[in-house]
Amino acid sequence: MNNLGTAIVTGASSGIGAATARQLAKAGFRVVLGARRLDRLNSVAAETGGVALPLDVTDPSSVAEFVEAAGPCRVLVNNAGGAMGLAKVADADEDHWRWMWETNVLGTLRLTRALLPALVASGDGHVVTITSVAAYEVYDNGAGYTSAKHAQSALHRTLRGELLGDPVRFTEVLPGLVETEFSLVRFEGDEERAAGVYSGITPLTADDVADVVTFAVTRPPHVNLDQIVMKPRAQASATRVHRD
Ligand code: NAP
Repeated sequence: MNNLGTAIVTGASSGIGAATARQLAKAGFRVVLGARRLDRLNSVAAETGGVALPLDVTDPSSVAEFVEAAGPCRVLVNNAGGAMGLAKVADADEDHWRWMWETNVLGTLRLTRALLPALVASGDGHVVTITSVAAYEVYDNGAGYTSAKHAQSALHRTLRGELLGDPVRFTEVLPGLVETEFSLVRFEGDEERAAGVYSGITPLTADDVADVVTFAVTRPPHVNLDQIVMKPRAQASATRVHRD
């Protein structure tokens, strides 16, 4: 296999990134995986026959080393990201905001900017960015995350126009509730609070999102899926969820 070229997945040590790495490898991509927790990244790499490389998207020198080691690629999945805390703007924690903006927004900028030449040179490049329903909705106490995801989305969608005419596609995937380590990170390890986010509903799984990413990057080169919003059936919006 490995005849579809190289796909780079950021944040592949857990959740959506790990599931995407597994499915892309199964579909025929050689996968190059980046994240900070190398032990976990190594086990995903071993499962997928891929390559694990240390990556901290908030650190420009780590990004430069990662890109250098990764080599040529055809697909980039900007997945590394997440939320930190829930607080009113009046009570905003600047460290939380910095974490969210550095990881989701500047991380996507750094990886995409560094890899665009290789993606274009491949003759059929593809950038997939995992934003969120928080990229087009706002909710109380969520401005740190919703503003970062709005900005990440704006950055991604701008590239669609700036690279028009070049052989590179841009797909934004905007998930609603997906059960991963996302809420555990957001609530800084509070398992009970994290579990409450998904109680009484059947959330999306990381594999549900990975299915969609894999579908998008396996369409013929002239087909660009621009934006894909996906939510559990029981979720109508960022703030409206039906719980049993
Ligand atoms: P997750 O299980 O917490 O995974 C987050 C991944 O991002 C981990 O692999 C983590 O790896 C990586 N990461 C975090 N900071 C990083 C950094 N500085 N450098 C490199 N990698 C970093 O959560 P997930 O749900 O799969 O999240 C994946 C993406 O989906 C995020 O962008 C998130 O905002 C988005 N999303 C999630 C949901 C949801 O409900 N779960 C909904 C919509 C969108 P290390 O900690 O090992 O570095």
